[in-house]
Amino acid sequence: MADTIDKNSQERVDETPCNILLVDDNPQNLRLLIAILSMRGYKVRPAPSGAIALESALSTPPDIILLDIMMPEMDGYEVCQKLKENELTSSVPVIFISAMDAVADKVKAFEMGAVDYITKPFQAEEILARVNTHLSLRRTQRLLEEEIERRKASEEILKVISMKYQKMATQDYLTGVSNRRYFMERAEEELSRANRYTHPLTFMMMDIDHFKRINDTYGHQAGDQILKNVANICVDTLRVHDLFGRIGGEEFSAMLPETTLNEALVVAERIRKAIEDAEWEIDGKKVCCTLSIGMSQLNDNSETLDNLMKKADEALYLAKSSGRNCIK
Ligand SMILES: [Mg+2]
Repeated sequence: MADTIDKNSQERVDETPCNILLVDDNPQNLRLLIAILSMRGYKVRPAPSGAIALESALSTPPDIILLDIMMPEMDGYEVCQKLKENELTSSVPVIFISAMDAVADKVKAFEMGAVDYITKPFQAEEILARVNTHLSLRRTQRLLEEEIERRKASEEILKVISMKYQKMATQDYLTGVSNRRYFMERAEEELSRANRYTHPLTFMMMDIDHFKRINDTYGHQAGDQILKNVANICVDTLRVHDLFGRIGGEEFSAMLPETTLNEALVVAERIRKAIEDAEWEIDGKKVCCTLSIGMSQLNDNSETLDNLMKKADEALYLAKSSGRNCIK
């Protein structure tokens, strides 16, 4: 029989030996199917009953199943239903091979989840053609699924990289608060909002007193730790809608939207006091520091950020020259 098969039209799609489970209660049918399929290099597993077929399919899921319908004890429909219910075998294509030729039988087979239906008596060519088609469909589907998974994975990686990049672009590497560029960007937005609606707004410049002395006395690592601690206290003391960032070495800035100078003074004093009261142990030594703060407020609705910062800077200079650890 195999000699009559047109070799060119029935060439296997690829070289991997596909694993086919043959289920038929008729030993003669099984022998015939084994002969046809093994000629093409397929690995064939025969199962003479539904129960044996299920056991075999679950222990090693095949690439495709050829399933007889009329069998004693468990018929092909039931076998198919059980295969489709199990996660291990639900995606294995099932081709029914049956002598039952009624449309209702075929409809039922497809409803059970079969991908094809071959009527007995069958032609070897037909069996090979349909097996080949469904195997290659399945391979394509698998490749597609793998490709989708790969793309999902690379999308995830891109997301993580972009988040990391976003963080690096907006955060100060040492303290984790907004960096100068990002702070200025946000401050411009808040300023233009306040200008548009003539809402109050206050700006703060803060500078750690004698920071060089801390670095010289305790070392740069201690200095870095102080910067982090001061930034943390400021973030904790400021309100949710206030902006805060590290502007330079030991210099920080805050912008307080919807806040008058008097209201901002209360916040600034809270920050100054919290830092004055704090004492940190760094390398077994007790270290503390103080903060000078200069403030400015929005006076008319055409003020620029530069101007606001300049005024706060002048106030900060005044705070420094009046003995530090104070607010001007
Ligand atoms: Mg049968």
